[in-house]
Formats: sequence, structure tokens, C-alpha cells
Amino acid sequence: MRLLIVEDDPVIADALIRALRAHGHAVDHAADGATADRALGQYPYDLVVLDLGLPGLDGMDVLRRVRTRGSHVPVLVLTARDALEDRVSGLDAGADDYLVKPFDLPEFEARVRALLRRRDASPTGRIEIGAVIVDLDGRRAYHGAQRIELSAREFGVLETLARRAGRVVSKEQLLESLTGWDDDVGLNAIEVYVHRLRKKLEPAGVDIRTLRGLGYLIDKAGVGG
Ligand code: CA
Repeated sequence: MRLLIVEDDPVIADALIRALRAHGHAVDHAADGATADRALGQYPYDLVVLDLGLPGLDGMDVLRRVRTRGSHVPVLVLTARDALEDRVSGLDAGADDYLVKPFDLPEFEARVRALLRRRDASPTGRIEIGAVIVDLDGRRAYHGAQRIELSAREFGVLETLARRAGRVVSKEQLLESLTGWDDDVGLNAIEVYVHRLRKKLEPAGVDIRTLRGLGYLIDKAGVGG
């Protein structure tokens, strides 16, 4: 998953970025509204964490512009202002959830999980492909009851493919879902992750097919030739 944190307080931003990266997400950070607005127009984020009090373009403006562009990306608003009218106008402007500062990291993580789950096809937070179970909340994969040992990046590739099971995902789409601005990962690395992942999924009878020039497709082995 690729997430954008919009927060001008470096201490809070750092804590949130660390927490989300620890869960294997690719995280970008914008410290002002204009940067956030540009990033949101450019990249397909899976979730945005948006502070309302920002220098320049404020959070509410960023939010309105996101929705005006027709994006349905889930937005978790952070606000120091606990005023009812802020919440109401934020919800009117298209926020999906709220956290009032100060908040605890576990609560933040729970809200993020809930929002990501809501946008999933699977409301249980799990996707099953043949004998492979992808636990999106726990960031783990299982072959039946047996855990499949995956690195954070390998899990990221599996997650992106699993969310679009039966459909082709391009290498560029995989790269975008895995990397943030300061990650130095290229398309060659994607091939390596897919190769490793394919080997680990083989015993479960799940295949990642390569469609030359198009990308990858995850499926139960043997399905569709
Ligand atoms: Ca702020």
C-alpha cells in the first residue's frame, strides 16, 4: 500500500511514518499543503493522513481539492482543534475519519487498518487465492494454517497482486504500490521480488504468471491455462 502523510510537525510526522513503514507500507511525506496537493494529483495513493493546520494551503483546502478531482482515496484527518464545527466541515469536505491530537499510535494504526479494510473488496481483511490466505490486517500470508515467511516487500507484492487477483498488474503498478519518494527501488527489483514470491507460493499451488510486456497475474495454478 502506498500512503501519504501530510503533517508539518516533524516529530509527529516521523512517528507516523515509522509506524506505517514498520507495517510494510510505502510512505510519502508532505510537510505543507501545496506539496501534498501536487503529490495527490500525481500518485495513486491508497490512503492519506491529513493534518488540518498546515502552512500555506491548509488541510481543508487540500481535502476539497482531492474530492473536486473526483478521487475517492480514504482520508484520515488529524486535528488539534476539537471543535464540533471543524469535524462537521471536514466531513462535509469528504474526510473519512478523524483523530484529535494528541492520540496514541495504536489508535492511529487501528484507524488506518479500518480505513484500508473498508476500501478492500474483502471486508474481513483477508483475501483467499486457492490455498493461500492473505491476511491484510496482520500483514501475513498462510498456506492453510502454515505461515509463509515473506519479507515486507514480498508481502507488498503479494498484497497488490491479490487485490487484483485474476487481473494483470503491470510492473510499474507494482513499483508504485511499493515505493515512496525516498526508496531506491527499480523495476529490476520488482522482478526479483516476484521471482522469490513465486517460489514461496508454489507449494500452495498458487502461480504468478508473467505476461510478457504486460505484467503479472496471480491465480490458482492451472486456471486459464
Ligand atoms: Ca499542523
